[in-house]
Amino acid sequence: MFCPRCKRLMRPDRSAGVWKCAACGNTVPLGKAVETGRSEAKGREMVVLEERPATLPTAEEECPKCGNPRAYWVLRQTRGADEPETRIFECTKCGHKWREYQ
Ligand SMILES: [Zn+2]
Ligand SMILES: [Zn+2]
Repeated sequence: MFCPRCKRLMRPDRSAGVWKCAACGNTVPLGKAVETGRSEAKGREMVVLEERPATLPTAEEECPKCGNPRAYWVLRQTRGADEPETRIFECTKCGHKWREYQ
């Protein structure tokens, strides 16, 4: 527990039921130690999801699986800088995915 005023270590004074700062004399009720002790925001992993935007462009591409004439498409950058982007199609009907071959 660190003093919210001067950021120094506080010591519990159980008879008074408070955390007491020896440096500035500030006191904090013992029960609040858990809430103010540490931040939960730090260390939380950022999860990157491959989410589909609400509105994807569609193209007149025939699905090789079900024959549906319309498919969503996204551009996917390949790892090599000299390689062109690849279009990935996804059937609007059955969800089948395939890539455009050039
Ligand atoms: Zn203090
Ligand atoms: Zn399909």
